[in-house]
Amino acid sequence: MESLVLERQHELSLRDFPIEGEETLGPRDVRIKLHTVGICGSDVHYYTHGRIGPFVVNAPMILGHEASGTVTEIGAEVTTLAVGDRVCMEPGVPDPNSRATRMGMYNVDPAVRFWATPPVHGILRPSCVHPEAFTFRLPDNVSFAEAAMVEPLAVGVHAATKARIRPGDRALVLGAGPIGLVTALSALAGGCAEVFVADLDAAKLEIAAGLSPAIRTIDVSRDDPAGTVLKATDGWGCEVVFEATGSAKAAAGVFAPLCPGGVVVMIGGQPEPISYDAGAAMVREARVENIFRYAHVFPRCVAMLASGAIDVKPLITRTFDFSESVRAFEVAASAPKGDVKMQIELPQ
Ligand SMILES: [Zn+2]
Repeated sequence: MESLVLERQHELSLRDFPIEGEETLGPRDVRIKLHTVGICGSDVHYYTHGRIGPFVVNAPMILGHEASGTVTEIGAEVTTLAVGDRVCMEPGVPDPNSRATRMGMYNVDPAVRFWATPPVHGILRPSCVHPEAFTFRLPDNVSFAEAAMVEPLAVGVHAATKARIRPGDRALVLGAGPIGLVTALSALAGGCAEVFVADLDAAKLEIAAGLSPAIRTIDVSRDDPAGTVLKATDGWGCEVVFEATGSAKAAAGVFAPLCPGGVVVMIGGQPEPISYDAGAAMVREARVENIFRYAHVFPRCVAMLASGAIDVKPLITRTFDFSESVRAFEVAASAPKGDVKMQIELPQ
């Protein structure tokens, strides 16, 4: 089927890719006609760098893992989904019998197969087969575009969950990219009174400020995040700091704006080992949480989109036709200012 294929670093093509033979519909699988696929920073990174850490693109690979679509066929033992259901999909499928999965931490199962992580193909193609257990039905009032945002939103909701936010907490999010912004929305949905969002890109901060009156932006080119937060909190600091830049420099300063007993959640991927200020963590008795993708949060994300508790629509800044996929990736790789999430729509 026609697919967006990363042939090798810097080379994409939209071409027929014979993947059908690899995909048989098992008794607990569904076949899905894809509708909308978001372009993720990781997809772009594979395109521009050919690898992410230990995951190297050694053979042509179909990109894409943030998706929504419609069920077109169900396996013999599927009970919760029917043909015609609109759905979104969790892209990582673990080994159901692994030790990590049995402990409930299926996202850190070493055997997890995750779309568009070599050697597993992604879903920038007309259809795919996926387990019922990782496919979630959408209410009528959640659009395909919003549903394709559930995957990145899940990262923010998982981060907010691990922070164990209490009502009225104040949070600082370092980074106003897609993940930083979904984290800010998740922190507010989790009960934060106020969320500071810090970035260098004024256009992204403008989008952040428009998301909620409870979001305050910090332009890092002018103001120091820790100084701003301390000033706004009478010197106390905020209860939660989310590191969503993946920059070693930002990570080095995560404890400065944190209040005593606060929590830092490390979200951004760090390509190299980094150092952080353990002394500053110690005098605060800071808790540090790390997250890897997410677990158990897709139904929560869908429920919040349906109820209006979270609105991701302002984050979707550009939509391309599937036929323009290669250009969409070139645009995404150029990281235009003011663009948050770009999506690709497949022909229906
Ligand atoms: Zn993603």
